[in-house]
Amino acid sequence: MKITKVCCQGCGADLQVDEDVRYVTCNYCHARLEVVHDPSVTHTRLMEKLEKTTDQMAANLKVIALQNDLERLDREWSGSRENFMMTGRNGSRSVPTRTGSVAGGIIGLVFIVIWIGLAASSGAPGPFVLFGVVIGAFIMVNMVRGTVKATDFEGAESTYRQRRAEIVRELEEARRQ
Ligand SMILES: [Zn+2]
Repeated sequence: MKITKVCCQGCGADLQVDEDVRYVTCNYCHARLEVVHDPSVTHTRLMEKLEKTTDQMAANLKVIALQNDLERLDREWSGSRENFMMTGRNGSRSVPTRTGSVAGGIIGLVFIVIWIGLAASSGAPGPFVLFGVVIGAFIMVNMVRGTVKATDFEGAESTYRQRRAEIVRELEEARRQ
């Protein structure tokens, strides 16, 4: 057993430690110390600092994991958003809205009602009127379908926004550590 003299990094007191010992507690300031045996000199390192470094590393890893989560969430959302997209008459792509579905449906219905009225009043044959009614029913079904799709989209979007806000908050918390 060989005794070495080391200096406490907490209070500067001289401590005598067994060379084989890795950790000591200072008799004076009660700091927890790691005994570091470097080739040239044996010294001590404060344990709290060591723990802090470990905490820092864990926090950094958490930040990286959360950043990955955020990227994946955004990627997944842009994929499902694409699935919700509707192609307009001029080829433009847009997400469904309830107002858009209802407005489009109403415009279509107004036209078809006028068309039925004109066909009926001008004495057009029965199939013309019937054709108008079928188109009208088709417009109504489409309107309901569009509204349901828009509602689904709104739900999916709000879930995505909530999840994203949660991750961003966790990320800010982890970055503060
Ligand atoms: Zn000390």
